[in-house]
Amino acid sequence: MKKIIQKLYETSDLSDNELKMLIDSSSDEDNELLRSLADEVRQRYYGKDVFLRGLIEISSYCKNNCFYCGIRRDNKCAERYRLSSEDILECCDYGYSLGLRTFVLQGGEDSHFSDEFLIPLISEIKKRYPECAVTLSLGERSEESYRKLKYIGADRYLLRHEAADDTLYAKLHPESMSLENRKNCLFTLKKLGYQTGSGFMVGAPYQTTDDIIKDLRFLQKINPEMIGIGPFVPHNDTPFKEFKKGELGLVLRLVSILRLMFPKALIPSTTALGTIHPYGREMGLKAGANVVMPNLSPADVRKKYMLYNDKICTDEEACENIAELKKRIATAGYEVLGGRGDAVI
Ligand code: SAH
Repeated sequence: MKKIIQKLYETSDLSDNELKMLIDSSSDEDNELLRSLADEVRQRYYGKDVFLRGLIEISSYCKNNCFYCGIRRDNKCAERYRLSSEDILECCDYGYSLGLRTFVLQGGEDSHFSDEFLIPLISEIKKRYPECAVTLSLGERSEESYRKLKYIGADRYLLRHEAADDTLYAKLHPESMSLENRKNCLFTLKKLGYQTGSGFMVGAPYQTTDDIIKDLRFLQKINPEMIGIGPFVPHNDTPFKEFKKGELGLVLRLVSILRLMFPKALIPSTTALGTIHPYGREMGLKAGANVVMPNLSPADVRKKYMLYNDKICTDEEACENIAELKKRIATAGYEVLGGRGDAVI
């Protein structure tokens, strides 16, 4: 296994067979070697820096019905809300005062957030804060829409492909959703010049190691600037409530593999990772991640954006949240860097 890890470190690639062995190996010694090489590569390009992104969850309405997601359309127990432009701008003002220089607008696929709504909003954010990056994570939209939003100032777009294998994708989503369309959206975002983020859940129901390898191959094809992975965590009011959550060790191993395959990528240590272990996010940073996304959503809506059970950071104020995160990041041996935090070229 040492040879395989060394090869990944030196060439940023492995054969499918080698990847399979590495993903499935859970020896402490192998994990530690993988982790330390991933950390070395991360430090080569990004030093000890960690970038913060202010996450604003703008809507819990969603027209989609993904089987895993707590805000799926058919979850009648989910409380729905949507933020107004004023609410969102207030979150940005607050986030700015706390030192954040990237705002991520994320939400369910909610037709309320039309181009007509988003264009003046994005343009106002960029006017108030020209040195800040605006990231959108609003699901699948038309090329026309992505183009307009980019033109008005959106810099980045996060759209996890969720599962690159057709059969697995179909087990996680209703028939109305198409993997082909999702993949095409990602190619379009890239073509339009967005810094593009993709990714997948680890330990999703029915997911095999071969599926994960396909996810990695798909990521190689789009070569995203940002890659987000986190454990699947069940939600009580979804069809997947009985499935078990993704394993911490596997997520960490994959973070390290991603760092070695994509040395310059921005890789978040995700909220879901922090949800399955009290120090999950610190472990993610040590395994090669270099981004953390504190929650900037107004306190009264946080609990309503419940993608999965026990999601963390739904109680504290953003300032407490960020102060705590900074302490944790420092304790893990890294430091928060101000500024937009674009990927190194
Ligand atoms: N509507 C947007 C944002 C989706 S929410 C979009 O389509 O991109 C952001 C991410 O949360 C999803 O991409 C999914 O990978 C993750 N997610 C949803 N439900 C989850 C669950 N039960 N466990 C872990 N992650 C989940």
